[in-house]
Amino acid sequence: VTALPTLAAALEWASKHWDGRNPPYTLNVHDTEGELGGLAYSKAFIGYLSATPNQTTEETVTAPCQHWARKLPALCPVCGVRDRDGKVIAETNVYSKTVLRYRWPMWRAITKLQNALRPRNEPHPYALILVLARYGWQPRSAARELGLPWDYAEASFLRAIRQLHGRYEEAPVDTRRSTSHAAAWTELSVSQQNAIIGGETAA
Ligand SMILES: [Zn+2]
Repeated sequence: VTALPTLAAALEWASKHWDGRNPPYTLNVHDTEGELGGLAYSKAFIGYLSATPNQTTEETVTAPCQHWARKLPALCPVCGVRDRDGKVIAETNVYSKTVLRYRWPMWRAITKLQNALRPRNEPHPYALILVLARYGWQPRSAARELGLPWDYAEASFLRAIRQLHGRYEEAPVDTRRSTSHAAAWTELSVSQQNAIIGGETAA
């Protein structure tokens, strides 16, 4: 089962992920448009000058705790709040973790696609994607631009987007699971603290 069964689904996926984190080659067109001599680069563009496709960024996310590390009758050490001696005194049921993500997953994917082998007698998938993007993911306009018969273009576009999709990753595989830590008691809001105290009283 493929994630992108039809060209419509493929186009939707591509346009949705071709977003604010999109590759620099679109920004150096739009961001400097209308400026003479490129003197006034935008802040965004200056940021992109130092960007690389494989750049990662750390994100802190919170997740509901499944208490997989809990050894009854002790409380869960992952989402647990500790007292001054390090003893777990209450469970918060949520924990925060740091995850590594690609900063520019689409740029990375398209860079990898650039290195894909070109099928014989066909336009390179990288070129097809760029033309589709330029034509706002309107495949018939893109096909006309390329001078391709529609049936042929339809199949080629779908194949190209699938190839792009196959190279698209939100995060490095080996670091998706990373270290976690529970919030210290003092990092919790007063309402969270009260909820925990209330839960203890009720229990
Ligand atoms: Zn837990």
